[in-house]
Amino acid sequence: MDRGKCHGQIDMNALDEVRKVYVDLAQRPIERNCVRTKECCHFKLTGRTPYLTKGEALVAAKALRATGRTSLPQHSDGACAMLHRETGNCLIYDARPFGCRTHFCAAAGGPFARNEVIDLIRRLEDVDLALNGSGPRVFQNAIADALAELR
Ligand code: SF4
Repeated sequence: MDRGKCHGQIDMNALDEVRKVYVDLAQRPIERNCVRTKECCHFKLTGRTPYLTKGEALVAAKALRATGRTSLPQHSDGACAMLHRETGNCLIYDARPFGCRTHFCAAAGGPFARNEVIDLIRRLEDVDLALNGSGPRVFQNAIADALAELR
């Protein structure tokens, strides 16, 4: 991964690989029926906050910047910072992290089993290494640092 560096030393190939992982995940024949209740986006309710590798965080941060925002919105109710206040939709849905794509609520069929997607997790870990990441980190911190790195 040594092509296309910009934003300082960020390897754009690495970010392309993250996006490919998301595409490959979408092609897995694992049936779920998400009707976007967005229950899983309310971390305080679920008691679960996604953890992100560095590549995921950078992809998400770039998508947030593309909306014209340069900092992470703050919610006091424990909802994900990416949840739009007025619409209740994800601000970065197409660039949402892996955990948002694999953690389904019970109504949607439940989370993917780790062994169903372990190869994709390994690929994200490889990207993390290539970007000098430090492994999966809690959502807010990972995104905040990614936004700072993109400045
Ligand atoms: S990034 Fe988007 S999909 Fe993921 S928890 Fe936040 S609002 Fe929900």
